[in-house]
Amino acid sequence: LTSRLRPFTSTIFAEITELARRTEAVNLGQGFPDTDGPASMLQTAQRAIADGVNQYSPGTGEPALREAIAEQRRTHYGIEHDPDSEVLVTVGATEALTASMLALVEPGDEVVLIEPYYDAYPVAVSLAGGVRRTVGLKQGPDHRFELDTDALRAAVGPRTRALVLNSPHNPTGTVLTDAELAVVAEVCREHDVIAVTDEVYEHLLFDGRGHTPPATLPGMAERTLSISSAGKSFSVTGWKIGWVCGPAELIAAVRSAKQFLTFVGGAPFQPAVAHALRTELDWVHRLRDELQRKRDFLASGLTEVGFDVLAGEGTYFVCTDVRPLGFDDGEEFCRTLPERAGVAAIPVQVFCDDPDPVRHLVRFAFCKRDEVLDEALTRLHKLR
Ligand code: PMP
Ligand code: GLN
Repeated sequence: LTSRLRPFTSTIFAEITELARRTEAVNLGQGFPDTDGPASMLQTAQRAIADGVNQYSPGTGEPALREAIAEQRRTHYGIEHDPDSEVLVTVGATEALTASMLALVEPGDEVVLIEPYYDAYPVAVSLAGGVRRTVGLKQGPDHRFELDTDALRAAVGPRTRALVLNSPHNPTGTVLTDAELAVVAEVCREHDVIAVTDEVYEHLLFDGRGHTPPATLPGMAERTLSISSAGKSFSVTGWKIGWVCGPAELIAAVRSAKQFLTFVGGAPFQPAVAHALRTELDWVHRLRDELQRKRDFLASGLTEVGFDVLAGEGTYFVCTDVRPLGFDDGEEFCRTLPERAGVAAIPVQVFCDDPDPVRHLVRFAFCKRDEVLDEALTRLHKLR
């Protein structure tokens, strides 16, 4: 194994999911929903298969999907994209991210990540030969994880090629505020940095919050690659249909990498996602409201068990402090929880270069049926 990959031999999601399977634990670790997306979308995919949409799609993705993505970004955010040159369909958000790094980062270039970071980011930087610099989210007085804007300013400099930003944020559930995004934009403009924005939870914000794509900030459209995916919005994480939008020159670069990674992906899913983006956004709003209710349900149940629960503002996840239950180390807690209580969760420290500030934090997914959440809480009461 090369030095580029040696630090990354397995993923926590695969490890914990396998542990959950072996112990028959309720899996609140890996974030995937256990109910299906909109019926009309599923039927469109089935019909596409029956109708012979089973060969390679065009290299940039099915035109109908690229048009639907451009239309969604125009109607939601007022951003204009040419569907032919400024939208690229990828194999999930993950490929969009990795292809962006391979296309834009020269060996030795620095890439700034906000930590805790999603586990694919440091691998993508490493595959590209880049050097990562991390900036920790820090907990404010109300326990919300906030962007450490001073640390961000200190981390970005002449060697910085790109900054990866994820809001709503996995694993903390933080939604970056307009003030935080303004600092990000200022820093990117000042140092001529490309922003790679992971917006897979763009529709899953709670308590009336709205999503602000970083590309809408002054001077950002020309330097931002905006990434999203159908997996979270339409509850089809297994379809792996993602996309990246941005200026034609950057998209052409990402396409150069993408075409030799996978060439294309999932032809029959593409018309289905196009259909969903056009006609099922009300379904997504209902999903968001359901998830907010589930967040509240799981958060209050976990509080009763004795966890200190941090308020999430979006995504599938809540983070909890395990110290009130007598544990110091979230990873040790998660590796033994399936045996002890029959529930699986994810330690937050594995998403950090500096695990210390979050060593006591554990992430639970609430994107599950009520009876599954209920069963998990019943089992967790054994910890008391
Ligand atoms: N980014 C974040 C923040 C995620 O949580 C996930 C998956 N849960 C992904 C990217 C990957 O998305 P995809 O499955 O579309 O590749
Ligand atoms: N993104 C999902 C999560 O955070 C997991 C995806 C994966 O298994 N790689 O739980």
